[in-house]
Amino acid sequence: MSFCIITRDDELSKALSLEIKSKINQSYDESNPDIVIAVGGDGTLLQAFHKYPNASLFGIHTGHLGFYSNYSPSDIDEIVSEINNNSFNIEQIDLISVDFIDEDNNKYHDNALNEITIVGPTRTLRLDVFISGEYFERFRGTGFCISTPTGSTAYNKSLNGSVIDPSLKCIQLTEIAGINSNSYRTLSSPLVLSYDKKIKLKAFNIHDAYITVDHKSYLVNKFKEMDVYYAGAKLKMAYKNHEEFLTRIKRTFLKSNQE
Ligand code: NAP
Ligand code: MN
Repeated sequence: MSFCIITRDDELSKALSLEIKSKINQSYDESNPDIVIAVGGDGTLLQAFHKYPNASLFGIHTGHLGFYSNYSPSDIDEIVSEINNNSFNIEQIDLISVDFIDEDNNKYHDNALNEITIVGPTRTLRLDVFISGEYFERFRGTGFCISTPTGSTAYNKSLNGSVIDPSLKCIQLTEIAGINSNSYRTLSSPLVLSYDKKIKLKAFNIHDAYITVDHKSYLVNKFKEMDVYYAGAKLKMAYKNHEEFLTRIKRTFLKSNQE
């Protein structure tokens, strides 16, 4: 067993990381670790996942309790003993994949934990939407966000997408500032699709676009098309106590008026 630590750049996170590192008796390996500990917030965990997609991830939140970062700084001794004894709980989390090609026909593939977006920040994007090979709609606007169930509370929620119970296997397609007029008519509502559906977005006039995968972004000159689809339950997340979905939603978004 080997491990490494990814740390958000603040004093508390850095101090905790040093303490954890000194207490774990496994080998420290930044090239191919079995376990990665993300100390910071959900953003830190996203970075850890993209750097080490096959590792088991521990998230320790040093700010507010995160969606993914479910250990707190007071759990350090527990994490250390779990890792030293190689005994911890793992939850498999669903990911989505994106495939796209750039203007030179180079192929890209990536996986997202939260969402994949396509945005044209300066010009409107004109995209034809196909679902599992069938033409669905012609879109004009800023772009789309396609999210996982656990990512539904991130960017998707700011777009008025639905918050999804992660026990449901699905992907959600949400518009970003779609133009609706007698010339352009799209569904407008967030569309929640079963995990076996594939989404294809095809440009019908070619522009440059950004494709984002969680916190990462690719500038695609002369964007042509992209495919987004369910990738499977591939992320191994360590957890302390299983927290019910609704409990997590309430503590993050709702102030209790019962107490
Ligand atoms: P960031 O600005 O730190 O992230 C934005 C906020 O989203 C942070 O407070 C982060 O929590 C939180 N967050 C991340 N994943 C979440 C989830 N699954 N459920 C609920 N909250 C979540 O940027 P970043 O650290 O690079 O993270 C990239 C993410 O930012 C993207 O995946 C996207 O979801 C989100 N984003 C949101 C908007 C928007 O809402 N308008 C626009 C672009 C990107 P922590 O504070 O714990 O890190
Ligand atoms: Mn962040």
